[in-house]
Amino acid sequence: MRVLVIEDEALLREQLAQALRGAGYTVDVAADGTEGLYAFTELPVDLAIVDLGLPRLGGLDVVRRARAAGKRIPVLILTARDRWQDKVEGLQAGADDYVTKPFQVEEVLARVQALLRRAGGYADPVLRVGPIALDTRTQDVQVDGKWIELTTFEYRLLEYLVLHAGEVVSKAELTDKLYEQDFERDSNTIEVFVGRLRRKLDPDDRFQPIETLRGRGYRLQGARETPPAR
Ligand code: CA
Repeated sequence: MRVLVIEDEALLREQLAQALRGAGYTVDVAADGTEGLYAFTELPVDLAIVDLGLPRLGGLDVVRRARAAGKRIPVLILTARDRWQDKVEGLQAGADDYVTKPFQVEEVLARVQALLRRAGGYADPVLRVGPIALDTRTQDVQVDGKWIELTTFEYRLLEYLVLHAGEVVSKAELTDKLYEQDFERDSNTIEVFVGRLRRKLDPDDRFQPIETLRGRGYRLQGARETPPAR
């Protein structure tokens, strides 16, 4: 999953980016509202963290304009503690949740996870599709009740497929979501990772959950056990 951080305080921006990367997200950063709005509307991000006090274009305007441009992804705003009006205005502008400064990075991560899960139609932090159970809090994965070991990249790939279970996901989309902008992209590496993930999920080739649709991409098969939250 790809997360955009729009924050003008360099230290805070880097702290958030680092924590998000550590949690397995692909991260894009922007240091002011104009740059942020551009990234929000042009990059294939899955969630935006928007500071309200931004130079050039305020955070509220970033959210309003992105929503007006049809961007529906979850938005988490960062507000000053003593400004309750900001929270109300932020939510009215189209934000989904807020965190007040100063905050613990863990709180931001927890809210990001919850927003992405709900956007994917899951109410529970453990995502279940067929025999696969993926705990978004700990990044533990079980298949038929047995733990399996995944690398960070394999986990991110699986989480993306699980959040889009039943949908066709193209290789280009996976490349966009799982690699950062400056990373040398090669869709062939996605094939390698999908192959590895398949072997780990189903070493005996019993139920092969990841279907390949020639020329179109991949589809994780199986029904979600948790009914959609919205
Ligand atoms: Ca600020």
